[in-house]
Amino acid sequence: MIIPQKILDREDYKVCAEFHGHICMGLTLGYMAAKLGLQYLAEKRAVDEELICIAETDACGCDAIQVLTGCTFGKGNFIYRDIGKMAFTFASRTTGEGVRLAMRPNVMAPSVEEQELMEKMRSGGASKEDIQKYEVMHETRSQALFDGGPDAFFTLEEMTITLPQKARMAPSKLCDKCGEPVMQTKLQVVGDKQFCRDCFAG
Ligand SMILES: [Zn+2]
Ligand SMILES: [Zn+2]
Repeated sequence: MIIPQKILDREDYKVCAEFHGHICMGLTLGYMAAKLGLQYLAEKRAVDEELICIAETDACGCDAIQVLTGCTFGKGNFIYRDIGKMAFTFASRTTGEGVRLAMRPNVMAPSVEEQELMEKMRSGGASKEDIQKYEVMHETRSQALFDGGPDAFFTLEEMTITLPQKARMAPSKLCDKCGEPVMQTKLQVVGDKQFCRDCFAG
């Protein structure tokens, strides 16, 4: 996909790219999701409340989400669920009311003709005209997709989430094997010994 210049030029996009370290489609998808989610919550007048984000992927897009929503891993209001979907839920931490965005199926799939041209190029059998034709198709498809705005990328479903408990801080104790301080609630007890998870496992 070709990311349109008008998006690359946006100040908030630049901040995301700087944080992430490079420009890529994954980051852009996260940017789109955050925009759509925040817009939805603004309409519900919930943006002033503290937000919580649940990401069902750990891909590039998560960085744009953290930058734009202020939900961060360190604050505990950015929660990763290992599902492998380009899906993000944004909700108010106070009420749990929010929205889940999920990437539409085949949203970035090329047409059969475009795919055939790609194959030709890959095998080295593409003429100059083929390459030109491919480039036009690819650009047109990218533009059409981005012209649809964030709605073109994601489905939107209102929902109320059950708020996860905030992780409580507990005092640290020393692991009986490596001697490093470990949050007490994370220690594994074996008889009268306590081990960190790594020492317990290995
Ligand atoms: Zn990336
Ligand atoms: Zn240990």
